[in-house]
Amino acid sequence: MPTPESAKMHEVTGELREAVFEYARNRLSYSPPPLDHSQPESELQRLAGPTITEKGLGGVAALKVFELVLAPATISTDHPGYLSFIPSAPTEASKLFDLIVSASAIYGGSWLEGSGAVYAENEVLSWLARECGLPEAAGGVFVQGGTIGNLSALVAARHAYGARPGKRLAFVCSSESHSSLKTAARVMDVDIIAAKANHQGRLTGAAVAEALGSEDLDRVFAVVATAGTTNFGIVDEISSIAEVAKQHGKWLHVDGAYGLAAILDDSKRALFAGVEQADSVIVDPHKWLFAPFDACALIYRAPEIARAAHTQHGEYLDPLETGEWNPSDYAINLTRRPRGLPLWFSVATHGVAAYRKAVAANCEVAQAAAELIREREDLVLVRDPELSVVVFEKLGWSPADYAAWSDKLLKDQVAFVVPSSHAGRTNLRFAIVNPLTDVEMIRQILDSIPRN
Ligand SMILES: *Cc1c(COP(=O)(O)O)cnc(C)c1O
Repeated sequence: MPTPESAKMHEVTGELREAVFEYARNRLSYSPPPLDHSQPESELQRLAGPTITEKGLGGVAALKVFELVLAPATISTDHPGYLSFIPSAPTEASKLFDLIVSASAIYGGSWLEGSGAVYAENEVLSWLARECGLPEAAGGVFVQGGTIGNLSALVAARHAYGARPGKRLAFVCSSESHSSLKTAARVMDVDIIAAKANHQGRLTGAAVAEALGSEDLDRVFAVVATAGTTNFGIVDEISSIAEVAKQHGKWLHVDGAYGLAAILDDSKRALFAGVEQADSVIVDPHKWLFAPFDACALIYRAPEIARAAHTQHGEYLDPLETGEWNPSDYAINLTRRPRGLPLWFSVATHGVAAYRKAVAANCEVAQAAAELIREREDLVLVRDPELSVVVFEKLGWSPADYAAWSDKLLKDQVAFVVPSSHAGRTNLRFAIVNPLTDVEMIRQILDSIPRN
């Protein structure tokens, strides 16, 4: 049968196919990749020109635009000198498998269509649940990121709680919790009750009890603990928070988007005591489980509660109600890429022990970085690192000094360290999740800060 004219665009030439594979192969084998930097829109317009035209540019030309103009205008989050925000350090196995996931066009929303993929994703979720000490029945779904994970968990919590007519519902979280919780509150049209973290940046059960003391308890449907704050990597005192939450019969959600990965490190595990009591937890594999963007593991203690909150109903969806596990039932999502598979393949390839070692090694580099900072009289460690985030100030520097140093570091293609701040004071922050970020690199970056 001849290919219909309209299907011609569903194939490319052998030349283009090879060029794309070649590009991917090269990018995968860079170690490290170029750091690169962003460009103003006007410059991109000048270099790339309009690329969306009636006729099309042809694949080889479009790939060239990407390779020569667009890709270099993105900062490589997997460069070992990328230490801002939370970097990304996917294993090669996970990136390779991401190609396979794309090539396979798997529908990851339902068991009917994707059982093989869903089975593998669920095995990963069960492993993570076991690490947290959650019961055998725990399960959930890989969603796009921690923002959607937190929102979906809190929507399930509210659904389980039910309405309180005439009352504005609310959840409790730390004054140091992540911005996505504010977004969740806004989207859900509920209030946040901020409980005050202590001088170390840690929320305790006592602080939650205090915040609840002056509240109408009936309007509170959940308490959120953070397992590794984004700014400092501080783990809340989950066990005492769990105690207060349980005492009042409230849902406990643990936001471990960044930090919960460190439960794999035996020397850090004790920090997470109490997580086994959570009603829901999240951890982002794209942050510290060495998987590509974008993936958040969202796990519920009792998944049927989440299913009741999230399942979409429609005549066209009836065939999916097979009684089997449909990932789309556990979050705000329907169609989904089986985005847990790159992590599945990498863990299946390397084994859990390799993950424990890699996470522990990042924590050791963070400790060594803190030591180098303590040795310098002109640098002040803001808090002792608990996981793999290191925050420090340079004595005598104005915000402009920080910015100028940071700009130069990127311009010189050494590292990407944007100034951060805490309590109104500018600081520098290293978030270390890349196994290629070693003490030598940290030393080089610190040496580029002129001594007083
Ligand atoms: C990063 C982060 C989030 C949000 O996750 P995204 O994947 O960026 O949406 C939520 N909570 C914490 C603690 C985080 O570090």
